[in-house]
Amino acid sequence: MSRINGFVGRRNFMKFLGVGGVGIAASAAGSSFLWDAQQAVAQQPASTPQQKPPSVSPDEAMKRLMEGNKRFVDEKRQIPNQSRLRLQETAVAQYPFASILGCADSRVPAEIVFDQGLGDLFVVRVAGNVASQTAIGSLEFSTAVLGSQLIIVLGHSRCGAVSAAIADDPLPGRIGVFVEEIKPAVERVRFKTGDIEENAVTANVQYQAAQLAESSTILAGLIRDSKLKIVGGRYDLATGQVTIVT
Ligand SMILES: [Zn+2]
Repeated sequence: MSRINGFVGRRNFMKFLGVGGVGIAASAAGSSFLWDAQQAVAQQPASTPQQKPPSVSPDEAMKRLMEGNKRFVDEKRQIPNQSRLRLQETAVAQYPFASILGCADSRVPAEIVFDQGLGDLFVVRVAGNVASQTAIGSLEFSTAVLGSQLIIVLGHSRCGAVSAAIADDPLPGRIGVFVEEIKPAVERVRFKTGDIEENAVTANVQYQAAQLAESSTILAGLIRDSKLKIVGGRYDLATGQVTIVT
């Protein structure tokens, strides 16, 4: 891998991260980077079995995810894209059709609850599904570079991170770092009628989704160009069902 002044060259950087055969131009941030599709294809082994699939629209991606979640809820999972062939295909390139910003909670694994497989989803998980700087950077990569056109911000019932933000108690170590990022959402519903935990989970999904679009010029540019939708979702721990948060 070539290095320029100590940095890995951009083209090799893309290759290193598994971007093969993808023609992406993103100029939303004022800086533009172009990935030469022909070069990328030429760099792949001749025996590569996977062609670059057509891009998946936000609505089609949403449909695939909700159908997968229904299979999960109905105990009719197909457990797709987990064969040895799929493993080999995805070893040389990845084309995830959707991105998820979900909670790190052990009970909400995205590939299982949406019944997807290897290379299908680009998943960023952090306690409280907060739109941290590193989460935003990861999602800029999955959309602007890998071509995913849908981001779901996925909260869930009885989220411990949200409960901690409501309690507002001192926390040890760095636990408070992500809890602080949830507090603005909690304050929006602190005096609202109903269950504050339930209201705060929904408010946090809405807040973090808004943070993505507002604090990233790359994501905002893709939305403006109709190449990205950011959608809120809420997962029910008891039923396994994902419902859309508007
Ligand atoms: Zn959680």
